Formats: sequence, C-alpha cells, structure tokens
Amino acid sequence: MIVDSFGRIHDYLRVSLTERCNLRCFYCMPEEGIVLRNRAEFMTAEELLKIASVFVNMGVKKIRITGGEPLVRKDFSHIISNLGKLPIELALTTNAVLIHKYIYDLKQAGVQNINVSLDSLKESKFNQISRRNYYPQIRQNIDSLLLEGFKVKINVVLMKGINDDEIIDFIEWANQYDLQVRFIEFMPFQGNNWNLERKVSYAEIIEKVSGYYGLSKLQKLTDSKNDTCKNFMILGNYGSFGIISSITNPFCDSCNRIRLTADGKIKNCLFSQSETDLLTAVRKGANIEHIINDSIMSKKKERGGLSSFSNELVKELRNRTMVAIGG
Ligand code: SAM
Ligand code: SF4
Repeated sequence: MIVDSFGRIHDYLRVSLTERCNLRCFYCMPEEGIVLRNRAEFMTAEELLKIASVFVNMGVKKIRITGGEPLVRKDFSHIISNLGKLPIELALTTNAVLIHKYIYDLKQAGVQNINVSLDSLKESKFNQISRRNYYPQIRQNIDSLLLEGFKVKINVVLMKGINDDEIIDFIEWANQYDLQVRFIEFMPFQGNNWNLERKVSYAEIIEKVSGYYGLSKLQKLTDSKNDTCKNFMILGNYGSFGIISSITNPFCDSCNRIRLTADGKIKNCLFSQSETDLLTAVRKGANIEHIINDSIMSKKKERGGLSSFSNELVKELRNRTMVAIGG
C-alpha cells in the first residue's frame, strides 16, 4: 500500500495523457496558451503503461485518465485498451469534443464512469469560456454517452458573474437527464487570473438552491469514502448535484489521490509546488517503487502546504497551469 506520513492510503491515480487541448477554457489554459514541448519529454504509451502497472502492484485500485484533453492523443485507443487489462476501476475526464470517436474503445476497455466538463448550457457563453465553438458536438456526445449507458457526471466550474446564474438551470437539466452535475469552486493556478472574489462558494450554492426549492426539499446524500464531492438531491427530482469545495472546505483529510503528469512527474497534491520525476528513472531502468513511496511520504497535510487561498498567497504560487497538471 502507498501510505503517507498522516496514514492516508493512496489508491487512486489520476494520469494525464497530454498537456494539449482542443479547448482553451480561460480558467485552465492561460490566454497565451502553453509552450509546446518536444514529444520526447512526455511518456510514451508503453512508459505510461509500465508506470501505471507499478502503481497498481503497489495498491492503486482506480485510475482516472485526464489531461489536457486525453482524447486528443493519437494513441488513445491503444492506451485505454491496455489500461483496461489492469485489475482496476478505469475512469475518464474529458471535454467530450471527440467522444464520438471512442465510444466503442471505452466500452471495450470497461470504462463506465465518465466526467464531462460543461460550464454553461448557453452556447454563446460556453464558447466564450472555452474560446472555441464545439457546443453542439459536445451536447450530442453527452446524449450518446447516456444512450450507451455510461455513468456521466457533468463538471461545472462556477465563476461569479459568468455562469453563477445557471446553478438552477443545471440542476433542472440534470433532473431531465437523470445525471449528476458537480459544481466546482474556481481554483487558483498559474496564469488563470484567479482571485477569491471570483469563486462561488459552497455556502453560496446551498443558499441559492435552498432559496429556490426551499430548504426542506434539499436532501443530503451519503458521500462515498474519499469522495471530494458533497452530494445532494432535490426531493422529487431524478438527477442529483454535488459541490466540490476545494477552496472553502478542502477534503484533504481523506485524500487518496496521486497525480501523474503527462511528462511523467508525480504530484502528490494538486497544489504541491514540488514534483518527483518518475519518467527519467524509468528510462534509466531504475526501480521506481521507493521513489513513489518517498514522494507520497513527503505529502503535506493540506493544500500542498499552502496555509490558505488568500489573493496575496496565491500570487506567490509556483505551480503548473491546470492543463499541464491534469485535473
Ligand atoms: N479536458 C478535460 C476536461 O476538461 O474535463 C480534462 C482535464 S481538465 C483540466 C479536468 C477538470 O479540471 C475539468 O473538469 C475542469 O473544469 C477542471 N478545472 C480546470 N481548471 C480549473 C480551475 N481553475 N478550478 C477548478 N476546476 C478546474
Ligand atoms: Fe482543456 Fe479541460 Fe482545460 Fe478546458 S478544462 S482547457 S477542456 S483541459
């Protein structure tokens, strides 16, 4: 088992396949884009599979594929089909622009849980946030995933004055489609112009929802162990909604996550300012188990060691952009 110095067992690996993306969501990808690096700096499919197998041998039970946009990787089918052979739960986070090309591969690999990012139900606003024009394709692909029986969760990053007027619309939409929508508090990363006032907090979301439906209709659901999301439903509705309150109520106590970036670095926390290079070690033929253990042992108790998310502290943040970490 991979255990940190606070006794937290780490059995969930999030692997980024690429730093590239076919969208440019302004909260994730800096306006100027990211510097494209040489292909040799990134894990090949075989290196990725080798590293993933080591993690699985060490006790990882779930792998989520993410990015950047994982589906822009040309060898996605090969990677997913091989990861599907490991004795794990395999899941995917995607913007769904290209999902129509991979439904068969995802099924074959045994993927059931797919998280799709969609920050607005209004085409023009979605295009403004993502700086691209794929809204109709994404909506069609969400429909296809539901028709094919995948368990779909929709991720919405809420931002003041941008999409916070759509909380109820999303809940009603989730009800119609019998899916879960998860509202994520806007988080700070390098180059994303974050400030505390732009986030929509857990408390504000609850206030808005209970103001609309009435507090008595808001039902708290039981959250699964290690869930980063506080889950709710509206009595009488089919769909449910959740809140990921990374800023106002972080879930560090039960954290079981390890991140592996597309260039083969371990990040032991989304907000950690240091990384551990696994890819170079693999290329040298080294045994990486102790490197993994050391990295997790050095994990900080909360928020990668940040004491809070104040505007001042965040200015000092030395972290990758979200697109380069793998959310
Ligand atoms: N491209 C895929 C997608 O958009 O789902 C996978 C990668 S994306 C980085 C993973 C998740 O991180 C998405 O749900 C996205 O909304 C979320 N995310 C990115 N930047 C964020 C930020 N600054 N605050 C909160 N969530 C963020
Ligand atoms: Fe791309 Fe996902 Fe980031 Fe949007 S959130 S820019 S889709 S990686």
